[in-house]
Amino acid sequence: EVKRSGRGRTLAFDETFAESLRRRFNLSRALSEAIGSDALYVAYQPIVCARTGALLSYEALCRWDHPELGTIRPDEFIRLAEDTDRIVALGNWVLERACTDAVQWRRQGVSAKVAVNVSVKQLTLDTFALHLVSILSRTGLSPTCLEVEVTESVFDDGHIEQVTQTIKHLKALGVNIHIDDFGTGYSSLSRLRHLNVSGIKIDQSFVADLSGQSRVIIESTILIARAFGLTIVAEGVETDDQRETLRTLGVDQLQGYLLGRPQRLSDILGADTLSETAA
Ligand code: C2E
Ligand code: MG
Ligand code: MG
Ligand code: MG
Repeated sequence: EVKRSGRGRTLAFDETFAESLRRRFNLSRALSEAIGSDALYVAYQPIVCARTGALLSYEALCRWDHPELGTIRPDEFIRLAEDTDRIVALGNWVLERACTDAVQWRRQGVSAKVAVNVSVKQLTLDTFALHLVSILSRTGLSPTCLEVEVTESVFDDGHIEQVTQTIKHLKALGVNIHIDDFGTGYSSLSRLRHLNVSGIKIDQSFVADLSGQSRVIIESTILIARAFGLTIVAEGVETDDQRETLRTLGVDQLQGYLLGRPQRLSDILGADTLSETAA
């Protein structure tokens, strides 16, 4: 045993690597088939006003229940979709689904907007704005009821001109853009202002560590974001303490398990509209 341990370890490593490659290969093939099927669906998580608790919007979060492999986490299949360029088909499917669903809940008196995650690969296609227009007109959703969430990586050099152009078009339509997972990348707040972004979502890692150094980062971020007129959303809010602290610091909107888990459309439609908007 001891003598062979070095070689054994290499073997074990190779096995693990081979196994993970196999999984990626299988999932990758399965994902293509899943897009547009019932295996893939969208869950909606509430985003509420920090002051009043009123429901403002639902974030669309993609879910995949594989018939044999079970539930695949978004972190895994979104990454996979990014790597294989299927993210465009997947993302467009989510976008259309989310707009369709938002029209449905709004018809039932739930006046929440919908926030949709859009990958850099989607946003930097020069057809994105046009595609969005066709989805909006097909579904009948008002552009002002749609928010697009993109990560800071859209500001990486290489596609800044395309991104600037696309954001300009979205703004002209009335669609707002929020920067997701803010603080985990390298974008500066002044750059966001130049690009006409309307808000930031402070990453949940900062919210999880409010008693530590994150608090200083959040405080200064809020000060600058406020001065620029940006809407400030905090994600990953799990405790009353976090909610109170964030509210005191001046965060505008809150999202997290404390306020509500991602849920299916049927739960939104089945819910009592009055209790939805209550604190
Ligand atoms: P995200 O956009 O930052 O979404 C927030 C994530 O935090 C979601 O994870 C949500 O379920 C989770 N979350 C919400 N509240 C809490 C909380 O209180 N505590 C904790 N620990 N987590 C909370 P999820 O659904 O697993 O999605 C992960 C990421 O996958 C998303 O992060 C987003 O970047 C990506 N994603 C999901 N759906 C789509 C999609 O349709 N398109 C694209 N491009 N990306 C997507
Ligand atoms: Mg998001
Ligand atoms: Mg986020
Ligand atoms: Mg996140």
